[in-house]
Amino acid sequence: MKVKISFLVFVFVTLSLFSNLTPIDSLSAEIGKTKGKKKVNLMLKLSTFQKAKDFHLAEQTALRALSLSDSLKYDFGKSEALKILGDIYYDQENFKDSFDNYRRSIEIKTKIKDMSGLAYCYRAIGSLYLKQTNYKKAIENLFKSLEYYQKSENFIGSSGTLNNIGLVYKEIKEYDKALNYFFKALETAKETKDEYLIGRTFLNIGSVYKQKGNIDEALRYYEKSLESSGKIGDKSGIALCYNNIGNIFSDQKKFDKALRYYLKSLKIKKELHDSKSIAYTLLNIGNLYLEKGNINTANRYFFDALNISKELNLKEIRRDVYLGLSRVNQFQKKYYSALNYFQKYSALKDSIMNENISVQIANIQTKYETEKKEKEIEIYKLKLDKQKLVVWKLYSLLGIIFGIMIFMSYFYFQKNKINKKLRNEIKVRKKIEKELQEIRKELELRVKQRTKQLAKANLELQKKINEHKATEEMYRKYESIANTSKEFMTLINRNYIYEAVNDSYCKACGKPREKIIGHSVSQIWGEEQFENIIKKHMDMCFQGNEVHYQEWFNFSDAKRRKFYDVAYYPFYNEKKEVTHTIVVTRDVTENKLLETQLLRSERLAGIGELAAGVAHEIRNPIAIIKSTAQYCQNKFQSYDKELKELMEIFVETSDKIDKTVRKLLEFAKPQQSRMRKGNIMEILKKVCSYIEGKCAEQNIETNYEIPETSLPVLFDEDKLNGAFLNLMLNAVEAMPNGGKLSVSAVNKKDEIEIKITDTGKGISPDNQRKIFNPFFTTKKTGTGLGLSLVHQVINIHHGKINVYSKIGVGTEIILIFPVYKK
Ligand code: ADP
Ligand code: MG
Repeated sequence: MKVKISFLVFVFVTLSLFSNLTPIDSLSAEIGKTKGKKKVNLMLKLSTFQKAKDFHLAEQTALRALSLSDSLKYDFGKSEALKILGDIYYDQENFKDSFDNYRRSIEIKTKIKDMSGLAYCYRAIGSLYLKQTNYKKAIENLFKSLEYYQKSENFIGSSGTLNNIGLVYKEIKEYDKALNYFFKALETAKETKDEYLIGRTFLNIGSVYKQKGNIDEALRYYEKSLESSGKIGDKSGIALCYNNIGNIFSDQKKFDKALRYYLKSLKIKKELHDSKSIAYTLLNIGNLYLEKGNINTANRYFFDALNISKELNLKEIRRDVYLGLSRVNQFQKKYYSALNYFQKYSALKDSIMNENISVQIANIQTKYETEKKEKEIEIYKLKLDKQKLVVWKLYSLLGIIFGIMIFMSYFYFQKNKINKKLRNEIKVRKKIEKELQEIRKELELRVKQRTKQLAKANLELQKKINEHKATEEMYRKYESIANTSKEFMTLINRNYIYEAVNDSYCKACGKPREKIIGHSVSQIWGEEQFENIIKKHMDMCFQGNEVHYQEWFNFSDAKRRKFYDVAYYPFYNEKKEVTHTIVVTRDVTENKLLETQLLRSERLAGIGELAAGVAHEIRNPIAIIKSTAQYCQNKFQSYDKELKELMEIFVETSDKIDKTVRKLLEFAKPQQSRMRKGNIMEILKKVCSYIEGKCAEQNIETNYEIPETSLPVLFDEDKLNGAFLNLMLNAVEAMPNGGKLSVSAVNKKDEIEIKITDTGKGISPDNQRKIFNPFFTTKKTGTGLGLSLVHQVINIHHGKINVYSKIGVGTEIILIFPVYKK
């Protein structure tokens, strides 16, 4: 809460009219020497000076001047004395007396046409109205003042009044208007070159800018004001500037800076003995310390301010000091004192209320009172209405009660009659009720017992559920063991029906579980396999034996045979009877094929060696037989035709034997192989094109699926040519009446798979075991050495050969070559 310094401007403007630094003492001395009007004038001057230090003294001097001018019939002196009294009371905040004195002064001054004096008084009254926030009246009077000043061509006065008008507008927050008047005031003041006024006007302009929030501009004008005041050594102006600048910093919470300016201001004011301003500044400093939280120092400054304001009876300052002190005490947690000061503060606040407000309040009060009266009348009327209503209600209530009583007495008699009947009934009922109660008790007891039993059963059930859960868990574990196994696991009952199978089995069958379970073994494996192989083993198992055997099997709808290792385990019930068989089957085809290939190789090697030995022995005699026969042919050419023909048979047969022996030797003692790395597909394609003509002859459809290139394979071209040719010739020979020959090749990751398939007569299972034996043939002109050779070639290339065949359907030969890796 910053003290409104603006009002002071007016007061100081007043002072400026008499700004003469004549000391009070010398003035007093001079008064004693003079008489008449001059004495009055001097007294007035003295009073003006005294006013800044001692209101009481100033008042006395002015009153003396008044009575003296009265007796001298000196109207101007009288009016001036009244004016000065107005000033004194104004400074004392005794606004009523101030107002009266100015009014009286105006009366006289109008009579004597003292324009400047009138202007002064109107301005003072305007300021009074401003203080009472009666802005309209304030402006009215100030404009009168301005008019008189302008009439008397008093530029200084005009400027002052313009300043005051500006202050009113500032007060009602019409800042632009305020600035307008302040700038007008500045212009006027500049015309008179009155630095004092210029300085004050700058100060006012600055204060408007501050209100508008334009702090930089405010500071700029304060600085200007400071400069002007400095020029003429207007200390009070300087003090005001410092004070205003301090206010700005205080608002910005730059407390140290603010304090510096306040203290500077205070120092000057003390030099000037300007008690009222000192009190204001002390209050400001106190508030600053309070904001800073420096409570004790704040307290000290407040008390200094309080003392001065009490002495000078400055209510406004006192009021604000009390508020400050209340806050100080709140900080110190002395709440009682705080309250006390606050009460003082609010009491003063109320007492400063101006007349206007009192009148307003009076008006409001009368209004309020009339309103209250009217309301009371209304309430009274309402009460009367209510009373009437109540009386009416009472009557009707009485009527109703009477009616009810009559009705009830009738009812009572009727009821008595019924009651007797009812009583009897009630007796009977009570009896029944008792019985019922007993039954209920018994029931309750039973329910309790039953509940107990149920709880027990529940507990057992829970236990069983837990057990069941554990079993289920265990079951799931076994199930997962069974299902992860690669071996087939099945459970078959005595009717040869599947009851359980594992995942591997389902996968091998290519059927979902539900299409196996409940079906018979013959449905899955075919009637033939079941009757010939499976049934006898299974029956042995049902007699309580563990059965193991290995056999080629064909799933009833599968294309290829597979070699299985089969085990049957009897499954007993509680009575130790075999109810099921557990069948564990393992696919060992791969092993079996390897094994047979190995066996074949061994056998071929043995036979080869034997054959080679024999061939050598045979070759020479045959050569002799042949040459002898030829000799005979030549020698007995002319003799006997029949003989000649016989000799021919000798030669031909010898050739045939020789050819066979040569082939045998070729087979038994294979030439050194010449292995190279290359594209196996090229060889395969060459053989296919070679066989093409023969196929066309026999009406055989061909289908080749051979990629352009192969992964690298190490091979002997001649031997591979021979092997492929033999296989394809066999296929063609198996289809004398036409059919289809398919040759396909696939590059797999580590191997190349070649398939040669025909739709020929097929090979019986019995023969399948023999086809690789040398000299095994079912053909009239066959040598039976083709497949033996193929087998040998495949072995040289570290490959594999598998034969899948079915009588009447066809044969599929699968060759596998390993991919060459460095
Ligand atoms: P050859 O062809 O001289 O009879 P192989 O060793 O080439 O001698 O064949 C042996 C036997 O294997 C043949 O006689 C034939 O019975 C059987 N065979 C080979 N390939 C096939 C085939 N694709 N279809 C039917 N039988 C075949
Ligand atoms: Mg052959």
